[in-house]
Amino acid sequence: MKRLFPEAKLAIGPAIEEGFYYDFDVKSPFTEEEIARIEEEMAKIIEEDIPFVREEISKKEAENIFLSLGEEYKLELLSDIDDKNVSIYRNGDFVDLCRGPHLPSTGWVKFLKLTSVAGAYWRGDERNKMLQRIYGISFPKKKELKEYLHKLDEAKKRDHRILGTKLNLFMMDDSIGPGLVIWKPEGAVVRGIIEDYWKSIHRKWGYQYIYTPHIARLSLWETSGHTEFYSDNMFQPIDVEGQMYQLKPMNCPFHMAYFRSEKRSYRDLPMRLAELGTVYRYERSGVLHGLLRVRGFTQDDAHIFCTEHNLKDEIIRVLDLTFEIFAAFGFKQFDTFLSTRPEKFAGTVKMWDKATSSLSEALKERNIHFEVDPGEGVFYGPKIDIKVRDTLGRVWQCTTIQVDFNLPERFGLKYSSRDGTIRRPIVIHRAIFGSLERFFGILIEQYAGEFPLWLAPIQVAVLPVSKQFFDYGTSVAKKLEENNIRYYLDKRDEKLGHKIRDAELRKRPYIVIVGEREEKTDSVSVRRHKQGELGTMTQDEFILLLKEKITNKEG
Ligand code: ZN
Repeated sequence: MKRLFPEAKLAIGPAIEEGFYYDFDVKSPFTEEEIARIEEEMAKIIEEDIPFVREEISKKEAENIFLSLGEEYKLELLSDIDDKNVSIYRNGDFVDLCRGPHLPSTGWVKFLKLTSVAGAYWRGDERNKMLQRIYGISFPKKKELKEYLHKLDEAKKRDHRILGTKLNLFMMDDSIGPGLVIWKPEGAVVRGIIEDYWKSIHRKWGYQYIYTPHIARLSLWETSGHTEFYSDNMFQPIDVEGQMYQLKPMNCPFHMAYFRSEKRSYRDLPMRLAELGTVYRYERSGVLHGLLRVRGFTQDDAHIFCTEHNLKDEIIRVLDLTFEIFAAFGFKQFDTFLSTRPEKFAGTVKMWDKATSSLSEALKERNIHFEVDPGEGVFYGPKIDIKVRDTLGRVWQCTTIQVDFNLPERFGLKYSSRDGTIRRPIVIHRAIFGSLERFFGILIEQYAGEFPLWLAPIQVAVLPVSKQFFDYGTSVAKKLEENNIRYYLDKRDEKLGHKIRDAELRKRPYIVIVGEREEKTDSVSVRRHKQGELGTMTQDEFILLLKEKITNKEG
């Protein structure tokens, strides 16, 4: 950068999870051609194999160096450092303020690629100047770089924000407000299928389904502690006839209130309450991202009220349910984490130890490999987090299973035990997808918009070869409808090739073509998306094939 753009001011440039970036203050955003030139220059520097030399100097000396170089951002960074000495690195003529460590010399960098450019505010604050951020990555082997770039390319093609628009699945726009989603009809079909599946599998696993309101008295949130601990993520309360109400950021207090509303006994436990509950959370507009981070979303929430004695069994049940659900959606690889007691905590050490061992025993009993995150539990109880891996190996945080000693206390929950004594239940909060919006975003990326048959908004596109065969096409469509198969009948007066191309672009799983030959034999010509012609079959054969694949949740 300094060789090509000597006037560019250096801001910060850390290593990140995937590669690195550097922020520069330059007059105008980088063009593609400039990025290519920078990349070439970097390759030269790698070739020159220039050593990185660490120097520890006084802060004052460092200030003199960066003052003479006119690096004002470095001076600002220095002014925030309390230490007397700082480290700088020299690399030929170049010098930077850096903690290190570094490679011995530039020759070690090997294969490098600048991957993207973006605007970024100095120190992430929108009141500051907009800088230009260049992202890049390097690998010791050319093959590794190639594989990474291929993955990046694939990820770009799967971007749910682009596919969501292209496939007409959902929308967000400024007239509604950032982070607020409209599920368009075809997206809503997919959501409906997910919800139906979710409800039926939860019934099977012994959950009761409830609905709760979107707002409640502010005092409910004072009882739950949300006004105290969660207010940063809550919207402002609303005045209703002189009483303050709060838009809900969580469903938990409602489920607590329901449990408290009647006398409970040990016979009622474990009680599993499930809800697809829509919540609203304040997120800074800068962190909103497609469907992955929004302001209004529906959690696939549940609260399990149980005793210390059945805690482990209930956790095992949640784990089994989680993996059954993810398997149905084609996710087979997971990263699991157990977070333990933080410094500040509710309850007693004894309760924590018991609950934590219940969680780890449950994981071990199911042979689930997990990592422990020491001290990373929430103050009210230990938790298990499960991240899913998609087909590109990307990791997505979805499931949380959270033990809670605090809410039962705050809401004064109790039940009469077998021996007649009054006891306090334990609560497990759990969400498997996390939220429907987020999970839908992940699904779109997992399948690149080509949903498996059981989820596809339209399962079959029926294309008559010409107007003459609209009637036969209609009868094929009718039969699909009678068999609960979602279809689209293309009655536009267009060329067949054009209709096929449209259906392919919309990623319809099956295309059936009907013309004279098909009408005569009461059959259809079948094409499978991406696989091509499957040949001619009778209508009954075709429907049987679909039904079997739908029942088995096959691709
Ligand atoms: Zn909860």
